[in-house]
Amino acid sequence: MSSSTPELHRMGVAELAAALRERKVSAVEAARHQIGRIRQHQDLGAFVALDEDLALAQARAADASIATGNAPALAGVPIAHKDIFVTADQPTTAGSRILAGYRSPFDATVVRKLAEAGAVTLGKLSCDEFAMGSSNENVAVPAIGFDHAVPVRNPWDRERIPGGSSGGSAVAVAARLVPAATGTDTGGSIRQPASFCGVTGIKPTYGRASRYGMVAFASSLDQAGPFARSAEDCALMLSALCGPDPERDSTSLDRPAEDYSRSLGDSLEGLRIGVPREFLGDGVAPGVRAAIEAALAEYEKLGAKRVEVTLPRTELSIPVYYIIAAAEASSNLSRFDGVKFGHRAEKYRDLADMYAKTREEGFGDEVKRRIMIGTYVLSHGYYDAYYLQAQKVRRMIADDFRQAFAQCDLIAGPAAPTVAWKLGEHGDDPVADYLADIFTLPASLAGLPGMSVPAGFDGGMPVGLQLIGNYFSEAKLLNAAHRFQQATDWHQRTPQGF
Ligand code: GLN
Repeated sequence: MSSSTPELHRMGVAELAAALRERKVSAVEAARHQIGRIRQHQDLGAFVALDEDLALAQARAADASIATGNAPALAGVPIAHKDIFVTADQPTTAGSRILAGYRSPFDATVVRKLAEAGAVTLGKLSCDEFAMGSSNENVAVPAIGFDHAVPVRNPWDRERIPGGSSGGSAVAVAARLVPAATGTDTGGSIRQPASFCGVTGIKPTYGRASRYGMVAFASSLDQAGPFARSAEDCALMLSALCGPDPERDSTSLDRPAEDYSRSLGDSLEGLRIGVPREFLGDGVAPGVRAAIEAALAEYEKLGAKRVEVTLPRTELSIPVYYIIAAAEASSNLSRFDGVKFGHRAEKYRDLADMYAKTREEGFGDEVKRRIMIGTYVLSHGYYDAYYLQAQKVRRMIADDFRQAFAQCDLIAGPAAPTVAWKLGEHGDDPVADYLADIFTLPASLAGLPGMSVPAGFDGGMPVGLQLIGNYFSEAKLLNAAHRFQQATDWHQRTPQGF
């Protein structure tokens, strides 16, 4: 196979890894081919860093390891990382001006683990600043090929957003720029962009993947996970990136890594799928509801049983999340003060003025809004009324899931109430973005694993079926998604021109 083989980018992770192992294609060819595509489609704004020399050096090493006959599972598979994971060899900006010029002295654990599994890192992917956003419009750093910041465009319709905050990751997979990418999900940032771009994405149980080297947004919620075209490919990626990291992330859980590919193919006979009545109410677009209903009917054909459950505090997850996430962000982002990382204001009177000017220049509007909300809800006199109250309701939301899981094995519903909206459509109304997170926030607050699986279209735009599992049920989730993907071809649809 030559590097100009057009079919190379049609291969998913599993297929490409096998072709590499059988030496039908070399890692260098695969890297070159995908880099060519990334350049060809750089107008999408998905990549903020691309390092050809580095990628080719990694690819040569992968080819050498394949030649020994015992290469790791992902040897030679080209991937890219959301630019919220720190990388020693490439810049890390978290989409923010305040990290301009920053170079991490180390790799995030997820980055290291995927490299150890043999994956070849091509570059870094655009995201909302500090992962705050639902549209990937809150970006303050240029994408490759641009000299200014640009929003990421959805390959299904370039006038629409890809979702966020991991919009670059979802687009890179949807546009076949890489077979898989990493993302992070604090309140939906893997599931919602996966849904909007017609790809598969999974956020594992909180603590399943190490947060070491993920630029912190809301530490009690942040979790890493993969994007790929299929559940089978996500299983390969997730198996490589999860696992305990006791010395570096004390919230990473002490459970050995799992091989999520092993249970793919298990029967769904008798599986109870709980559909929360709050997830299919009036706020859901009719075309989205129709796609989700059709997906549920498909599951019944596969032997699953549909049961109605209730998550009565679904609506409350919005204020609860936007209080807790902002509170944690205001604390986490205090480290960006012009002293230790990235940008520092040029002109200032004294130390306090340097801090203030650096943060004024370095942070975008949404980040400042969150810092102000977070500082407010944590301040004396308001702490009990907002932060403490939110923590109590958070616990009740987790309890609601516990009750629901007494009646079902998995929960299903839409990942988002609508398909991707138009660029600029929410204008200066951040609350419109917040409200659209309603179906992803509950699982985040409870720390549960969740995924989005392509399940049809509404007006030409992809609709994602969200599956939520109990703690540590990633294998069950991936298997349920895999069986669905064996019976449907939504995940194989490709936007026109890609
Ligand atoms: N849209 C949510 C927010 O803006 C979720 C973001 C995320 O999961 N990183 O906070």
